[in-house]
Amino acid sequence: MSTVNAYAAQEAGGKLEPFSYELGDLGQEEVEIKVHYCGICHSDLSMLNNEWGMTKYPFVPGHEIVGEVVAVGEAVKSVAVGDRVGLGWNSASCMHCTQCLGGSHHLCQNLESTIVGRHGGFADKVRAHWSWAVPLPSGIDLQKAGPLFCGGITVFNPIILAGVQPTDKVGVIGIGGLGHMALKFLNKWGCEVIAFSSNPTKKQEILDMGASRVINSRDPEELESIQGSLNFILNTTNVTLNWDAFLGTLAPKGRLHNVGAVLEPLGIPAFSLIMGEKSVAGSPLGSPGLTATMLDFCARHDIYPVVEEFPLEQVNEALEHLEQGKARYRIVLKVN
Ligand code: NAP
Ligand code: ZN
Repeated sequence: MSTVNAYAAQEAGGKLEPFSYELGDLGQEEVEIKVHYCGICHSDLSMLNNEWGMTKYPFVPGHEIVGEVVAVGEAVKSVAVGDRVGLGWNSASCMHCTQCLGGSHHLCQNLESTIVGRHGGFADKVRAHWSWAVPLPSGIDLQKAGPLFCGGITVFNPIILAGVQPTDKVGVIGIGGLGHMALKFLNKWGCEVIAFSSNPTKKQEILDMGASRVINSRDPEELESIQGSLNFILNTTNVTLNWDAFLGTLAPKGRLHNVGAVLEPLGIPAFSLIMGEKSVAGSPLGSPGLTATMLDFCARHDIYPVVEEFPLEQVNEALEHLEQGKARYRIVLKVN
């Protein structure tokens, strides 16, 4: 038995309050992680407000966790007590389906999410299957590493899936938590990166992060000015924008890749795809293997998210800061 001290909401949109719960015996393939830091992703906010209709209360958010392994089950492989690891949106997969055996554990039909039907990382400890507790490269900055495990891998995977080339001209829509990491990745990938932002006050910071130009994501006329030029666009916003105008900015064979949890259907005119052999795609997170590759890439190029730190006790203020669009660019909670 192990007592977990967490922060939980009791109802949709409710304030988070101290909440303790007991964990039973550690599973044979489980690891227990003492949480040092946990990032706040917009998905925590959407889950807190039950926007996706799958939240169970009491609800403990938090799925951008870094910490230290403090206990391991008998059959755990690849990590040991004392190792520093990260844990993201997923906490377990079956390990024997075609997707898991093919290395795409994040597409397993029996995935267990860190905050769906279990309690997350706004807490002093969490448990997970060993495969999702990804070891951190030595020397990595713990305070800044958490957001790589959800936001980071979510925007890194599409770069691989779309086969983005260093010679490509690309765009990122929405320069928030996910978007600013995408900018940094694509810049180091070698691409020319255009940022689409609705917030003019972010402009200089966005240029400093490696964008060559900032375009207003809500202004079709500005979008028109780069007509037919981009090979790849990554959308990280969760709002309805003029998707057809974005398709117009793609070069022939270009791809609009969506990772933002836009609730309304994307209105895509068929001919906007047909004429230039364009495509629209989407993806969730990424596999543990690709997460490890991404961490190596970050270490090699010194890529970190830009973070603002709040103590766990101020989690409600931190959530409000994110909800008001004030986060620059990812909030992390200091837990232990
Ligand atoms: P975030 O930090 O809040 O950033 C979202 C950005 O979207 C904002 O910074 C803003 O950028 C832009 N935006 C917000 N409202 C807008 C509006 N009305 N018009 C135009 N742009 C607007 O959120 P996040 O943590 O990066 O998450 C982004 C989305 O990805 C969420 O829906 C989240 O649930 C989802 N997500 C998906 C996955 C996945 O596996 N596919 C994983 C993680 C998160 P500007 O100020 O630059 O306009
Ligand atoms: Zn997330």
